[in-house]
Amino acid sequence: MATPPVFMYHSISPSSLPDPHRLRVHPDRLDRHLRLLRRFGYRGVSLSELLRAQERGEARGLVGLTFDDGYTDYLEHALPALRRYGMTSTLYAVAGRLGGSNEWDDGPRLGLMDRDQLRAVAAAGQEVGSHTMTHPHLAGTGADFLMAEIGGSREVLQDVLQEEIASFCYPYGEFDDDAAAAVRAAGYDHGCVIGDYEPADRFTLPRCYISPRDTSAHLIARMMRHSVRLRLH
Ligand SMILES: [Zn+2]
Repeated sequence: MATPPVFMYHSISPSSLPDPHRLRVHPDRLDRHLRLLRRFGYRGVSLSELLRAQERGEARGLVGLTFDDGYTDYLEHALPALRRYGMTSTLYAVAGRLGGSNEWDDGPRLGLMDRDQLRAVAAAGQEVGSHTMTHPHLAGTGADFLMAEIGGSREVLQDVLQEEIASFCYPYGEFDDDAAAAVRAAGYDHGCVIGDYEPADRFTLPRCYISPRDTSAHLIARMMRHSVRLRLH
């Protein structure tokens, strides 16, 4: 399936704490990325909006925007930028860590949105998707574990938001056939990975990682690389 480019961000913050996993993009840089997309006639949208548009044959001029892990800085720094440019995104929350921190990671502790903050994200017209219960490595695990992490997190988020959760994102981008099958079985509409443009289907949608140093020129280069690779198929 030829999906338009989908960009993957994590934390959006002006913080100067160490960033060993290169997860932080400065708010000014995000603003420049979105401004550039608009100047080139592109609009950033959530993954569900992107796939619906694609099904209608109307995805031209759209790119997907995703923010992993559900950091509280999304509310302070990403949402205002998205609003400035009239764009939407999918935010992937770790459903068993709401109101907690990124304890799966050995870098600096970053706050994760709580239930009320997630509701505020949805009320602002943004999509909330699932990023499992605890942010584990899913590949090679058993059926019960997959269902608890993948299906369980969908139930938690649906309870918080009182709406269908359609979008799933594999932690670390890691998946195998069993994990992708569990995402489908849990009732999600689609799932996304990191990089790797093939073999892509609805449950392994590719995404472009955006690094802290990516300039607007890098963004354009990544979009061009994406479309060239799709044409080679
Ligand atoms: Zn993550």
